[in-house]
Amino acid sequence: MKKYVLLVLVLCLLSGCQNSSSKVITFPFPDVWRNQYKVSVLLDPSQHTYQSKIELTLKNTSWDVWDKIVLRDYPSQFKDEKDGGLSLIQNVMTSDKDVLAYLRLDDPTIVEVMLAAPLAPGEIITISMDYQAYVPELNARFGYVENKADAIDFYLGNSLPILAVYENGQWVCEPYFSDGECFYSETADYLVTVTVPNNFTVIGTGDKLNTVNGENQKTIEYTASSVRDYALVIGNDYQCVSQMEDGILYNSYYHSANQNIGIGSLITLINETKALNKQLGEYPYQTMNTVETYMDMQGMEYPQLIMIAEYMHGNESTIRHELVHQWFYNIVGNNGYQVAWLDESIATYLAEKSLSEHIGRIDQSYNEYPDENSYVNAMYFCGGAMYTRLANRFGKDQLIAILQDYLLTYAYSQAATKDLLGMLIRGLGEESLEIFKDYFDETTLTEASTQ
Ligand SMILES: [Zn+2]
Repeated sequence: MKKYVLLVLVLCLLSGCQNSSSKVITFPFPDVWRNQYKVSVLLDPSQHTYQSKIELTLKNTSWDVWDKIVLRDYPSQFKDEKDGGLSLIQNVMTSDKDVLAYLRLDDPTIVEVMLAAPLAPGEIITISMDYQAYVPELNARFGYVENKADAIDFYLGNSLPILAVYENGQWVCEPYFSDGECFYSETADYLVTVTVPNNFTVIGTGDKLNTVNGENQKTIEYTASSVRDYALVIGNDYQCVSQMEDGILYNSYYHSANQNIGIGSLITLINETKALNKQLGEYPYQTMNTVETYMDMQGMEYPQLIMIAEYMHGNESTIRHELVHQWFYNIVGNNGYQVAWLDESIATYLAEKSLSEHIGRIDQSYNEYPDENSYVNAMYFCGGAMYTRLANRFGKDQLIAILQDYLLTYAYSQAATKDLLGMLIRGLGEESLEIFKDYFDETTLTEASTQ
C-alpha cells in the first residue's frame, strides 16, 4: 500500500494533482443562436446627445408567431430631467426596406415595433433604425456630470434599445426604478463603433478592436459576445492604467486627479477577479473594466464594465460586489425586477463579511415591498445573511459547489427562483428548509422542493 501511496504522490507532483477540488470551471460561449446588434454611436458632448444607427438581427426563438417585437429604450425614462427627452426613433425598416410602424407605450421605455409580416417560430429578421438619445444632467448610471471646469463625464448604462425577453407567451416589460436593478435581457452579440471628439476617452462593453483617428474625431470599434446589455462611459478627464493577466486585459479608468486610487483599483480588480475565477469559474471575456464615476450609487454592474462611485473607487468589497455580477446577472441572467435575490443576495454574501442576523422574505418582486429600505434590506442584507447561515451550517465548500453547478447549468440563459432554490435544497438536504423558511414563503419552497 505504501508503494501505491508513493506512486500516487509522484503522479500528483508530476501532474499538478488534478483532483476535483482544483478542477477548472469554464464558461465557453455556446454554439447557439444569439441576436446580433450592429451599432454606430456618435456623441455630441455639447448637446448631451448621441445618435446611433442600429441594425438588429433577431430570431423568433419562441413557439408563438410574432406580429410585433418589443424594445426596451431606457434612456427615455429620463425624459423629464434637465436635458433629458424621449429618444428619437426614425426610419425603422426591415432589410427588404419595408417601413415599420412603432408605438411607444405609456411607460416610455417600452417601444413596440409592428412587423410587416408575421414572424414564425425559428424565423430571422433584420431591423434597422436611426436612434437619438438625450442624456440628462444626473449623477446616475445614465446621465452626464460636469464636476469641474471643462470636464464632463457621460455615464451611458443601458445605452441602446434592446429586445425585451419573450417568456411564457408574452413580452416581459418590468417598470424602471432607480434603487436597484430592474433589467432583464437575453445574451446577445454586439459590434459597436463609437465616435467622439479626439480629447475624449471611451470605455465600452466588449473588447476594443481598433481606433481610427481623424482630424477632430476618433472612432473606436468594440466587439462583445454573449453579453446582456451594452454600456458606455465617455469623458474628457479620464486616464487609464492597464494590465494583461492570464489572457484578460484589465483596465482601471480614473479621473486625472486620482491616479493612486486608479492604480489601487486595478490591483483590486485583478486580485478579486482571480479569486472569483477560482471560486465560481473562469471569467469568460477578454476585457474587464472598472470606471470611477461621480454617480451617487456606490456601484453599478454592466457586462465587462463596472461603474464605481468616486467615493468607493478602490474599495475592495464594492468592486468585488459588482464583479460577482459578471457571473450572477451576466453569465446567468435573471429578472432583476421580480427576482433580484438571484444575483443581489449572492453578490452581497460574497463581498460582505459576517451578515447573519437578518431575516425576511427575499422572493418578492420590487413592487411587493412597502418602501425602498424594505427592498434593500431584503435583497442585500437578508439575502446575504441567508447565505452566511447556510455556509455556517453546511460548509462554504458545499454551498459554493452548488453555486458552481447553477452557473454551469444556466450559463448564458436565464434562471428563476425555483431553479436556484431547488438546487440549493437538493444539494444541502431537507435540513436546509429550516433556514430557507425564514426567507421564502411556503408556496415558493414547495414549488422549488418538488420540481
Ligand atoms: Zn448588486
